Parts: sequence; C-alpha cells; structure tokens
Amino acid sequence: MSIPYRSTTTTLPDRTKAVVHSYSLTWDKATLWGNGGLANLGATVIEYLRSSGSCLAIQHEDLGVIVTPHRAGGNELTARVLCTDPACYTAAERDEQEFSLVPHPDAPTARAWATRRAAAGEWQLQVWRESIAHYYPGPAVPLRSPEDR
Ligand SMILES: [Zn+2]
Repeated sequence: MSIPYRSTTTTLPDRTKAVVHSYSLTWDKATLWGNGGLANLGATVIEYLRSSGSCLAIQHEDLGVIVTPHRAGGNELTARVLCTDPACYTAAERDEQEFSLVPHPDAPTARAWATRRAAAGEWQLQVWRESIAHYYPGPAVPLRSPEDR
C-alpha cells in the first residue's frame, strides 16, 4: 500500500531545489462506476492534494494530473504540483532521510515529471506569484519568504 500523499525532493535543470507534492488515489471499476467516473476521481484527488498542505504551490498553482489505467478497469489518478518553498524542501528532505531504506516507488516518476514541467516552461513561479497577487490581493496570499518562519 503506497502512501497517498508525499513530497519528493528534486533539483530542477536550473539547479533550483524543488519539491513535488503528489497525491494518488486508485478507484476500481465498480467504485469509478458508482462515483461519477474519472472526472470525479480527478476532482477528489485534487481536493485531497489541496487539503494536504498549506504552501502557496499546493493552494494556488496549476496541478498536473496523470491517469494510470489499471487492469480490470480501475484507474489510478495522481495530482502533482511543483513547489520551491524552502520549508517544504526541508520537510521533504527530512522525511526522505527518515524513510531512506524504503524510498517511495513513485519518486523517480515524480522527479521526471518535475524536470519535464520545468523544461517545458510551464513553470514560472515568480510570474505566477505576481499574477496570484494580482488576482488575490491582500493578506490572503501568503507570499512567504524563508525569513518568515
Ligand atoms: Zn510546498
């Protein structure tokens, strides 16, 4: 049984230290059928990921969603988000060291996703932060820096 929510440390091509926050959920065919199908599975996973952390990336940034069909008609859906919050990196690094004997099987895939995402230029954190600040002005947007904690 894999851990549904996890944070994987990675280093982007420009050497930025980042974290991939991921949440995965598998529904078998009967559950999919009874719960509104893949769209609802997607909405559920996104909701779970959003409620798993409080950093800016989890709360506000575009999530990547990956669907993996399983045998017998089930589907696994993973939502991911790329995050450069230093607090998230520190926490993820600590967890990885603690569980270093049993690395999460998803870690290589999460890192490959982060590299693709960064390389594709979809990920421009600073620009996004500015646009978030534009659309959600005021203290509701925690533009946190390392000194804040
Ligand atoms: Zn984060």
